[in-house]
Amino acid sequence: MFDVGINGFGTIGRRIATAAQRQKDIWVKGVASTSPSWKTQHAAMNLPFFVSLKNYGENDSENFKKSTDSFLNYGIKPKGTIFDLLDDVDLIVDATPKRVGEMNKERVYSKKNHLHVIFQGGENGEVARITFNAHINYEDAIGEQFIRIPSCNTTAMLRYLKSLKDIAKVDNVFVNLIKRGADPADPGQGPINDYVPSEIPSHHTEDAVAVDPSWKGKLITHSVKVPVTLMHMHNIIATGDFPSRDKILESFYDNPRMIVVGGHNGIPTAAEIFDANKREDLHQIIILEKTLHLHNNILIFSAYCHQEADVIPENIDAIRASLGFDGPLESLTRTNKYLELEKTKKTLESIFPVY
Ligand code: NAD
Repeated sequence: MFDVGINGFGTIGRRIATAAQRQKDIWVKGVASTSPSWKTQHAAMNLPFFVSLKNYGENDSENFKKSTDSFLNYGIKPKGTIFDLLDDVDLIVDATPKRVGEMNKERVYSKKNHLHVIFQGGENGEVARITFNAHINYEDAIGEQFIRIPSCNTTAMLRYLKSLKDIAKVDNVFVNLIKRGADPADPGQGPINDYVPSEIPSHHTEDAVAVDPSWKGKLITHSVKVPVTLMHMHNIIATGDFPSRDKILESFYDNPRMIVVGGHNGIPTAAEIFDANKREDLHQIIILEKTLHLHNNILIFSAYCHQEADVIPENIDAIRASLGFDGPLESLTRTNKYLELEKTKKTLESIFPVY
């Protein structure tokens, strides 16, 4: 049994906790967060709850006391502080906002020599030696004390790029990422009426290369944030030597973490796919079959990625890898099975058939 905790209980932390609880070989010993809210109340209803601080260094005991009181006033009874939780686990998944993980590494996690940590994509690459994707570098991550899961967009990109690389000689890839402006339960973010473009290349290029260095010099990404909360959309143009359209679709289809959708009535939109999936989380990347166009040595296609959910399977596999589980395929199989990915794939592929 892998004993783990989760620090930070927002969009990603909540989902990692739920997914980890569904694994038969992972025991979630507790979750920690800084201030009372409906999210922490929800956490405390299902799991032992611990108090973290926004900052550490001065007056920690006094701040822990103040923070504990604020939880008690809210009706949540913490079991202790983050340090108590760390004593009881082999690994902590840090799902705090970007750059907070680095602070936690220095001021909190470093106090416990035994502790392994999984960080998220909001941290700089330097936070861990390994930036992880389960299909690409699980073996390199076995036993690693610190692992970073790249962003949702990079995780999505790595999945379809790996499938393409397995069957084609790819020369160059340009990915335009149309990013959601905010998560649905994140009223403080935007834009609400604008486009926010990134510089070229966006950080996704560097992150993808950190996981698979063979993309160095071949991959260019660009992103633009728009007023949508549902999913990100990727528009991909690749040059190279490709097999037939059917073979390309097959290689996407063969990956349990991707879903290929066609559709009777045009190309399904992100909202339609969400509705068809009963508005549940989508851990897989959605490839839009009707957009896939092959013209000589140029391949074009589009994909959706549910930003709140696609990194969750990778977090679960990274827990096993970090704690020394020497079976990449077995880990992927367990994660996929307990998250019921096959069921989601079958449902969506039958509602939006490719024919
Ligand atoms: P979030 O703001 O929804 O949640 C962060 C949680 O951490 C909040 O509950 C907050 O109260 C808590 N927190 C803040 N400071 C803390 C501290 N010092 N100690 C403990 N808890 C603290 O953020 P999120 O969207 O879940 O993002 C978390 C990480 O995951 C970031 O690195 C982000 O870049 C990455 N990520 C986010 C998404 C996404 O779509 N939201 C997708 C992939 C990766």
